[in-house]
Amino acid sequence: MIFRTEEKEFKCAVCGETSVHEVIAEQERPTGAPDLDMRPDEPVRSGIKYWVSKCPNCGYCNSSIAIPVKFTKEYLDSDNYNKSGDDLAGRFMKKSLACEKNKEFEEALKSCMYAAWACDDEGDGERAVECRRAAVRIYDTHGAAFKDNADIKLLVADLLRRSGAYDRVIRDYKDARYGSELIMTINAFQVSLAEQGDSACHKATEVPGVRAK
Ligand SMILES: [Zn+2]
Repeated sequence: MIFRTEEKEFKCAVCGETSVHEVIAEQERPTGAPDLDMRPDEPVRSGIKYWVSKCPNCGYCNSSIAIPVKFTKEYLDSDNYNKSGDDLAGRFMKKSLACEKNKEFEEALKSCMYAAWACDDEGDGERAVECRRAAVRIYDTHGAAFKDNADIKLLVADLLRRSGAYDRVIRDYKDARYGSELIMTINAFQVSLAEQGDSACHKATEVPGVRAK
């Protein structure tokens, strides 16, 4: 299975310092099915630690520290930015805050979900729930940005269910209508899992009628 990384130099968009980061150079596409929240199968799944970089000088976290920002360096010193720590989940939460400041709301939401995935891998269920709730908060706070985005609406059903918000999944999704039959089918599956009080991770291939691509 091909998975190769390489070291590359990046100039930080916030402080201007240059630093070396390990990035994914080449990876094979997964052959197995993703999870219901679209977390990919191996080998992409294990490459998650390369999805976020942190500037060693100023603490800026993003997919690449060269991505321009709409905030100043002072924000990176704030308590709010630093509350999540510097482990993998913490770096994703910092990336989420940076993306939110940059008005990249979908990436901000997904970064909280990636933080949850990192917690899942560590077996830290409690923190994974916190991260999923943070992702839902971004969805709720920036509703206009996600209006008409069926993929994200469906993703949020999984975030809600996996953080135990079964009532909301049933209330908001039971009568949801989408333009895609596939999304309708997955939506119905999410609702049935919520009705059973099931907060576990499920594969997309478990959805009745859905086969692995
Ligand atoms: Zn920097």
